[in-house]
Amino acid sequence: MMYSIRKFIPYRIKFILKKIFYLGNSYYCNCCQSHIRRFCPGGEDLPPVVEYRITGAGYREQDYCPVCKSTYRHRMVWLYLQELKIRENCCTILHIAPEEMIARRLSLMKQLKYVTGDTEPDRYRHFTNAIKINITQIPFNDETFDIIICNHVLEHIPDDRLAMKELYRVLRPEGFALLQVPVSEILEKTYEDPAIQTEEERLKHFGQKDHVRIYGKDYLQRLANTGFEVEVYNPFKESTYPAIDKLALNPDERVIVARKARKI
Ligand SMILES: [Zn+2]
Repeated sequence: MMYSIRKFIPYRIKFILKKIFYLGNSYYCNCCQSHIRRFCPGGEDLPPVVEYRITGAGYREQDYCPVCKSTYRHRMVWLYLQELKIRENCCTILHIAPEEMIARRLSLMKQLKYVTGDTEPDRYRHFTNAIKINITQIPFNDETFDIIICNHVLEHIPDDRLAMKELYRVLRPEGFALLQVPVSEILEKTYEDPAIQTEEERLKHFGQKDHVRIYGKDYLQRLANTGFEVEVYNPFKESTYPAIDKLALNPDERVIVARKARKI
């Protein structure tokens, strides 16, 4: 009954009510600009997540924002984009599997040419006009985008090298892609096995039924082999944001920035 009533309350009203309800001084969500008492717990410590010490997965006490549902990962990526001051620049952005609050914020920046997409675009229709995009065959010309945001996608793609090639192809020289994935802190080499096919096996081996690998420390090299110049951004050292502790980011997580070099 409550659910059916909530369905008819406009998004904006629900958003404001939640901002008031969770108002507090302890934490801050930079994605939805809410001062809140706490974040909500989320994630799950499945055996592979613990065994391989996977950063970017697993249970966290301070995980998602009760107002906008952004997780600590989204807050970190948005912090990076905020630091770039994209609000002041005109550029073209491709956002794959768009995180809701980031997409809502970018959609409001009218100076941007902003495209969102996914293999199942209907899942995102309540907040963006997503189009159907398979990242191993991106339906855009070479060098179309200044920025690509494609977080926690590559670990789902059987031919991730082809996807990386495609992302590189549609990126403009001097552009960059944010390509976050869950990464094991202890695996030197990415763990993958095409023989592992069923959802049960993938859950058991990779910690999620639709993951096809666990990336190891060689993830950055795999991106570099595609042609990217890879940078690792540490928000705790490099951010100019004054109250970073209030964002409850994961202290072990970094932003992976894959740049396409300028043509010589
Ligand atoms: Zn939020």
